[in-house]
Amino acid sequence: MKTATASTKGSILGYPRILVAPPGPRAKSIIAKDKEFSSPSYIKEYPLVIAGGKGAMVEDVDGNRYIDWMAGIAVSSTGYQHPVVTKAVVDAAGKFLHICGTDFYYEGFSDLCEALAKSMPGRDKWRVFLSNSGTEAIEGMVKLARQHTKRHGLISFDSSFHGRSYAAMSLTTSKVKYRHDFGPMLDVHHLPFHNPYRNTVEQCVGAAQSLFETKLSPSNVAAVVMETLQGEGGYVMPSKEFLQYWRKFCTDNGILLVFDEVQCGAGRTGKMWAFEHYGVVPDILVTAKGIGAGMPIGAIVAKESVMTWPRGSHGSTYGGNPLACASALATIGLIKEELGENATKMGTRLLAGFKKLQAKHPCIGDVRGLGLFVGVELVKDRKTKEPAHDLMADLEQLAFTKGLLLLGCGKSTIRVAPPLVLTAYDVDKGLEIFDECLTELT
Ligand code: PLP
Repeated sequence: MKTATASTKGSILGYPRILVAPPGPRAKSIIAKDKEFSSPSYIKEYPLVIAGGKGAMVEDVDGNRYIDWMAGIAVSSTGYQHPVVTKAVVDAAGKFLHICGTDFYYEGFSDLCEALAKSMPGRDKWRVFLSNSGTEAIEGMVKLARQHTKRHGLISFDSSFHGRSYAAMSLTTSKVKYRHDFGPMLDVHHLPFHNPYRNTVEQCVGAAQSLFETKLSPSNVAAVVMETLQGEGGYVMPSKEFLQYWRKFCTDNGILLVFDEVQCGAGRTGKMWAFEHYGVVPDILVTAKGIGAGMPIGAIVAKESVMTWPRGSHGSTYGGNPLACASALATIGLIKEELGENATKMGTRLLAGFKKLQAKHPCIGDVRGLGLFVGVELVKDRKTKEPAHDLMADLEQLAFTKGLLLLGCGKSTIRVAPPLVLTAYDVDKGLEIFDECLTELT
């Protein structure tokens, strides 16, 4: 079998290995049941049926092993079976599963609020609201921003993704399928996000000025909501000037600046928060995904002067569940001790490898990244920069058959967002497979 030979070649750690072309027989039977009973709205990128994993390796139900470069959409930050995280969750499960942090107290809840509040820079004091997911944190953030400012206007950006509830969906513009037929939306004004590969800060600022001159008074705006680094929209890193412009604009106009770091935060870029690379501090930070390393948790972290909503105005039955708090506390400890540093080291190695591949493959238009938040944009032509959507889709599928888990984003970008425990082997072997796939496909 051609793919099996290719993917097992050079494997020194027992992975990647393809024993049977995926989906194998066990995978097929699970997929058949899923197709019969689960909602048709699920995407299911490719037929991966996971049985377990270790570090940055994922094993499927037929014994195939893959290098994971996507971490379940930037979530499994500590990889699979991390002993510290697993122990923290198991220990917590041995004590109690629930009491409701909105109404009562427990140590893990207060400890996590403290850890997140103290992770923020500067002299301000911060407070924390714990939710179950990124979407729920975004939803709560919109309520907080409106309640605090007594204004209703919201600004977000083209190609952004903030989730799928009504407020989050209204902020989201990365793909029309997330909004189609679901209206009416909340009243959100969308402006261009700075994408150094495709537009300029001047163009973005010009569009903002035009909006405020013709359609919207800044005095009606509660919050400007942006992903510090765009995830779903294409792994886009704006310039410092862009973030500085919005910081100043918000300060001058009494508007709250909100950074959504659900995908790019929690150590992924090498620092705890991506905004730390820019020296621009928001009024509210939203986090989820990697902070829980797989346990469902999200958080709104806001300046104390902003988190002024009264008792009972917002809450959640499960938000800050004790198992999720235990996982998040263990994860924050690991990020500080070693994983942030590893993300920087492995991210540098990965970027250097992709730059080499860019010199070899004309279809790689742009390579960009901070730590283990890396985007590889594929184009039909480097001059026109026309997105190569089909190539991205084919690459995802082919890499899967060779033992590398990839995930696309934007129109034609491969997002590389692996577990932060990634090793040099995982980087080099993954790059080898990536190279091999592009050679076959182009
Ligand atoms: N914000 C960003 C930047 C995201 O990437 C996501 C999910 O992909 C969300 C919010 C929504 O988070 P969740 O899927 O946990 O609800």
